[in-house]
Amino acid sequence: MSKRVLVVGAGFAGAVYARTLADAGYVVQVIDQRDHIAGNAYDFVDENGVRRHKYGPHLFHTSNERVFDWVRKFGEWVPYEHRVRARLREELFVPLPINIETVNSVFNKDLQSEEAMQSFLKGVSEPISAPSNAAEFLYANIGLELTNLFFRPYTKKMWSMDLEQMSADVVKRIPLRFDAEDRYFPNDKYQILPRDGYTSIFENILNHVNINVDLRVRFDSSMEDEYDHVFNSMPIDEYFECQFGELPYRSIKFHHSSQSARAHQAWATTNYTDHGPLTRGTHWHLLPHHLVKDTGKYTYTEEEPCDYRENSMERYYPVKTADGRFDSIYQLYKARAVENTKITFIGRCGTYQYLDMHQVINQSLMGAEAWIAGRGPAEI
Ligand SMILES: Cc1cc2nc3c(=O)[nH]c(=O)nc-3n(C[C@H](O)[C@H](O)[C@H](O)COP(=O)(O)OP(=O)(O)OC[C@H]3O[C@@H](n4cnc5c(N)ncnc54)[C@H](O)[C@@H]3O)c2cc1C
Repeated sequence: MSKRVLVVGAGFAGAVYARTLADAGYVVQVIDQRDHIAGNAYDFVDENGVRRHKYGPHLFHTSNERVFDWVRKFGEWVPYEHRVRARLREELFVPLPINIETVNSVFNKDLQSEEAMQSFLKGVSEPISAPSNAAEFLYANIGLELTNLFFRPYTKKMWSMDLEQMSADVVKRIPLRFDAEDRYFPNDKYQILPRDGYTSIFENILNHVNINVDLRVRFDSSMEDEYDHVFNSMPIDEYFECQFGELPYRSIKFHHSSQSARAHQAWATTNYTDHGPLTRGTHWHLLPHHLVKDTGKYTYTEEEPCDYRENSMERYYPVKTADGRFDSIYQLYKARAVENTKITFIGRCGTYQYLDMHQVINQSLMGAEAWIAGRGPAEI
């Protein structure tokens, strides 16, 4: 039995597959078109001595014990509970997701209990029993004013769509708190960050005698002949030369500035709810172990969403519309993909889903193990 496997993409999907297959005795070649490993989780220390995540802040959170145990094999992780504030006016920052303090600030109220908060929201929300899009879902849960303040302009700049055009699924993921909880991921048992950065975790995942990594290498279908199987995290529509049409993504342009005053606020990320083009800003030095060297300069990064074609085809968020038209196109690609038993599409762009890191890790561990179980472990 041949035991050579190609993994396209050195992000979490590719790295988890590569490591699991390597541990089972397969010889794994990993390629990535970028000049670095770690995919969108890549981080590095910038000219100000600040650890910066190149593709936007990546906060690790999970309740999955197996994922938690797995990532801790590859480096030290430290606790970090993420908090976000929305900037309403220059001087007014309120908790996000919306909690009792947010409502008290916006409506100048003094609600003191979860019951009072629930009853207030019931009073402002609309009686829509089966919301058919994101706007209706929000109106049914938080009413018109909070929707228009926190979600309408933000959604427009983030997705270039009105709430009415978007699937309710996109906003269903956003939690709503009836108490004063202001952590962004309060329901996840583990909220952690890698002490020495994500890139060092990836170096350790990929550091295996059976794994070889080549960067700046773009997948070409002729490579398939050289391997027993290909696990591919490239965009599935690109693989099939967009024969059923493009699967669109939103992307983000990152704008960095150096600040000479060090921010001391209790939250690292600020969301901008206004009509301007930017959606959020991050003070990296407020994340643990991100001020690697204090140079007196502190990087602040702001995000400007755009179409992926305006940002060198950098695909970040799959576009989910209320009518599900892009999901239907994805299903056509998926059906074609199963015809080729030598290739498995994996990860965010291979399966056209928005996935957090812990979800990609979980899916990839299970996917790699199922594949090995079907084949039997390679002879070492
Ligand atoms: C702005 C932003 C913020 C995020 N924040 C969070 C967060 O806070 N918490 C969280 O859990 N998750 C977050 N995520 C999601 C996280 O980035 C993904 O879960 C994770 O990156 C998915 O891993 P992946 O391997 O599927 O994809 P990727 O990390 O994108 O890796 C895919 C790799 O494949 C390579 N590739 C693609 N095509 C080819 C080709 N033809 N040839 C060779 N190589 C190719 C790419 O260069 C890339 O390196 C965020 C994502 C974005 C975009």
